[in-house]
Parts: sequence; structure tokens; C-alpha cells
Amino acid sequence: MKTIKDFDINGKRVLVRVDFNVPINSDLQITDDTRIQAALPTINYILNNGGSVVLMSHLGRPKLGPESRFSLSLLVNHLTLCLGLDVKFANDCLGNVSLEMSRSLQAGEVLLLENVRFYAGEKEGSESFAGQLAKHGDFYVNDAFGTAHRAHASTSVIARFYEGRKSFGFLMARELNNLQKVIQEPKKPFTAVIGGAKVSSKISIIEKLLPKITSLIIGGGMSYTFIKAMGGSVGNSLVENDYLETALSVLKKAEEAGVRVFLPEDSVIADSFDNNANRKSALSDEIPEGWMALDVGPEATGHYITCLKESRTILWNGPMGVFEMSNFETGTHEVANAIVESTERGAFSLVGGGDSVAAVNKYHLKDHVSYLSTGGGAMLEYIEGKTLPGVSAILN
Ligand code: AMP
Repeated sequence: MKTIKDFDINGKRVLVRVDFNVPINSDLQITDDTRIQAALPTINYILNNGGSVVLMSHLGRPKLGPESRFSLSLLVNHLTLCLGLDVKFANDCLGNVSLEMSRSLQAGEVLLLENVRFYAGEKEGSESFAGQLAKHGDFYVNDAFGTAHRAHASTSVIARFYEGRKSFGFLMARELNNLQKVIQEPKKPFTAVIGGAKVSSKISIIEKLLPKITSLIIGGGMSYTFIKAMGGSVGNSLVENDYLETALSVLKKAEEAGVRVFLPEDSVIADSFDNNANRKSALSDEIPEGWMALDVGPEATGHYITCLKESRTILWNGPMGVFEMSNFETGTHEVANAIVESTERGAFSLVGGGDSVAAVNKYHLKDHVSYLSTGGGAMLEYIEGKTLPGVSAILN
């Protein structure tokens, strides 16, 4: 896998697609800069090796063109602090002003372009938009793992304009190398911990993982679709009624594959979706009407922990409950701690997906798991065996 290190970038203007899609609060402050930090090694390498850097990224989901709350100008001060140099900002991607700014960039300088998703051509994968973007650099680097599963103009189509002058950044290479450890010959027992709100978004990864894993821990809101499908009463818990059949078929396939499945036999239930709601413990298949499960219960957590302690490879995607609320975070926190303990005993642990990463950060455990992926969707699709357009565009 070729990275920027395999090319001479001295004197070159390097156009780098980064994933600076960071969470921004209502005061327009960055609340988690993990993705910015993750891109710094590539940027610094180019600067230290005689190149200049033009950065492009998306931020949020702007619908109809420019919106100030999604402007990348919000990141300039923070990026300036992180890099220790003045980052220039162009308030568009295509105009003469921004082109002039990138053309006049000197070695060691950094220019950040405005949000590529302010242009319809980005998500459409427009070749003409990609061609316009390509005018900003002599060499193209893709370091945006979080969007590598999208065939957008700046992540994939643009690479056509850089035959022999394109590479992965260090983040992208690190992500792919670590995911390979889980895909190719993972050490057994291999446990997948899958949680979060919806079964629908995790079904295909679960099915793809079944031939590889020893155990499957299911937690979070998606558990209750399984429990209802098995005939349980789940009260007002989150359920995807369209997925009851699918849930049963997954359980059957797991049995056929010899995979041990852990569903939460008990839950912490609440009488409303509120941290201050009344709460109590209940069996997950006997949840009364008017109550909803917002966390896995102590019995279930105990079984998950025992399984995790015996595991030598762990993949975690999705929280075990509504961990954003302090009264419903115990399951997620304890699972995170068990993954850390296992890692300390030599297991390889890979955590990915926005909410599991947020949980690991919340409990200050990011340096205690083997690898924290910056990509949720991209990570799942790669593990599922899909070709990521952002990856193939560099390899082809
Ligand atoms: P996902 O994006 O599917 O990984 O879901 C993550 C979200 O699921 C988080 O915001 C959690 O608060 C939410 N979640 C986890 N468990 C539950 C639950 N039992 N009921 C409702 N939401 C949940």
C-alpha cells in the first residue's frame, strides 16, 4: 500500500482530502477534534518534506449550498493551533480567488478550502467538479477514511486526474492495516460487540461477521427487535417491526455457524426517554407497557464481561444503551472497561463507529484499546468486504 512516503513531494502543492467532519455545538465550538488530530501526521510530513498543503473536507450535511454553521472557517483557529502555523482559508473551492490562493502557496504553507459539500457536484460525484478541485494541487492524497465508502468527487472521482501522482495518507494506511488484522486470520476467540439503536443498519455486518466470529454480543436498542421477534414483551422499547423476521434469520444463521449469541436477558427500564425518568431492572422479555429499556441490565453485563475476558480479538461497534444519559450508561461503560482489560491481557481490540468512539473518549480509554477507527460506515463496509471507492480510486 503506497503512502505519501513513496513519492517525492519536494516543491509540490499537495491536495489532501481529509475528514474534518468534527462535531460542532450550538456555540459553534468543536467538541471533539479526534479527526483533526488523526490527519496531522500526513499534513506535517508534507510540510516537513518541502511541500505545501491544500486541504479539502466536508463538514455536516448542508442541503442547499453554503450555511455558516457548516463552514470550515470554524476550524481555522483550532487547526492553526494544532499545526503551529497560520492556516489560510479560501471561502470557496472553485473561484479565481481560491485558485490564486492555492497557486501562490509557498512550501511549508497550508490552505484550507471551504466545505466541498456546499457544491452539489461533490455528492453527485461530478467529474467536472472533481476536475475543478484538481486545479488546486499537483499531487493528490486521500486521508479521509471516514468518507472512503462514498464515491464523491473529492474522495474518489478526483483521483482520475492524478495518474501516478496520488497516494494514501498515513491515517488511511493505518486504518486499512488495522482493519486487516480483524479481517484476515483474527486470533480466536473472536467476539463482535454490536449495539446502537437500529438493527437495520447493522444487519449486513452481523451476517458478514458470522463466519469469522466465535461470539456475538448484541446490546443497545437493537436488542429489543431480537427479543420481540423471539416472542418477548418489550413494552415501549425501540423496535423495528419490519426486521423481526430478519432478526430471527440472523439468530438461525448464527446457530448454524456455531456462533454463541449473547442478548441482554435483563435491562434497565425507564418510564420515559429521560435521564430523570423512573427506572428499575426487569427481564428483557417481560417489560411492562409504558416502560422502555434504555440500558442492558447487570446479569447481561456480567455475561458480556465473562465472554470479553476470554476473547483474543474484539470488534466493538455501537453502545449498549443510551450512554449519553448518566443513568443509562453503566452497560456501555462496563463493556468498555472489559474490552480494555482484555486488551491489557493481549487481545486485539478494534473500536469504530461514532458512538462507540464517543463512549471510549467519554471514559478516557482511547489509549487503552488497540485501535480506534475514525470511520463508522467506512469501517463496517470494509469489514463486510465491500470495495471502498476512496480506496480503489488510489489503487487503480
Ligand atoms: P447507532 O447510530 O445505531 O450506533 O446508535 C447509537 C445511538 O443508539 C446512541 O445515541 C444511543 O443513545 C442509542 N441507543 C442505545 N441503546 C438504546 C436504547 N436501548 N434505546 C434507545 N436508544 C438507544
